[in-house]
Amino acid sequence: MPAIQVLVPSSLRFGRRPFLDRARRYALGGLAAGAAAGAFGVRDRAFGAAVAAQTPSNQPRDITPPTITKLRENLYSIGGADAEHRSSWTGGSNLVFVTRNHGVVLVDTKNPGWGRHMQTLIRSVTDKPVTTIVITHTHYDHTASNIEFPDTVDFVAHVNCVRSMSQASCNRTTGCEYFQGENARYLPKITFRDRHTLFEGDDRVDLYYFGPAHTDGDAIVHIPSLNAMHPGDIYPGRYSPFIDTINGGSGVGYDTVLTQMVKTFANVDIMLPAHRDTPEPWARLQEYAAWWTSFVGYVRDGQKAGRSPQELADEYRLPPEFPGVGLNTLGAPTRLHINTGVIFDEVKGS
Ligand SMILES: [Zn+2]
Repeated sequence: MPAIQVLVPSSLRFGRRPFLDRARRYALGGLAAGAAAGAFGVRDRAFGAAVAAQTPSNQPRDITPPTITKLRENLYSIGGADAEHRSSWTGGSNLVFVTRNHGVVLVDTKNPGWGRHMQTLIRSVTDKPVTTIVITHTHYDHTASNIEFPDTVDFVAHVNCVRSMSQASCNRTTGCEYFQGENARYLPKITFRDRHTLFEGDDRVDLYYFGPAHTDGDAIVHIPSLNAMHPGDIYPGRYSPFIDTINGGSGVGYDTVLTQMVKTFANVDIMLPAHRDTPEPWARLQEYAAWWTSFVGYVRDGQKAGRSPQELADEYRLPPEFPGVGLNTLGAPTRLHINTGVIFDEVKGS
């Protein structure tokens, strides 16, 4: 079945470096489509560098340490996701929520080697301890530094995410290798299926699961008091997403999830996508959801008309109403081709 072989996400079978290359590629697709627009807070690079210099850690030596940025009085982001500059790539961007009564809630923990640095950055803005870490999904660039935090931290994740992280063996994108043996204590023990609420009042954090999309364990983090959101990798920026079918991701499910996000949340004030260094306007996600619905419809209609996934991907042109979306046409197969194949297989016979 050569057509199918061309269209499977073959990059998943490769090692870590190709994953970084891929992550960079799909981030660049977003950058090509237009720079992130958020102008929230001021990044204090000088301060970040001073903190980094004091940090005894095993972080990779050739990468610029990320800094911490104030978004609101009790909300910060830690970047390091800017794939335009390879030296700054440390994994996903993180929200740091300083609660009144429950310490610090952190979203995700980055590539291996960044846990201590993250703790130093957090200590530079608050005396409160990190008590809770929400993991948005199983990929190692969101989980690997779990093992550098105190094991007293409450790790929280979707039940399917934990199942994936707990495997005895997996591909490197998944990163279960970090949680073998004694390190299993850094696996999330608080799990949820559809919805979970942490804390109350202004401290409240809501976790949502709307079904398979990027993986089958994507948690969406929403802080009601600030109307702030971390969508994990579900919204990667304005470019075609990575659908990790090995970890249960789904192209049609992606449509369901994005549509549900638009219905559930109204005008989110701060949305920090995992692979953008600054928040993006909520309208971007609304536009992205509408584009993905139209793309799934294009593949579904083409499949019914007897076209092949290769033909559909080759002939696809971005509709004029979605001018800002990057199609990720680098590499072979391109992400456009991979995602067309994923959707095609899912809609067959439907
Ligand atoms: Zn991911």
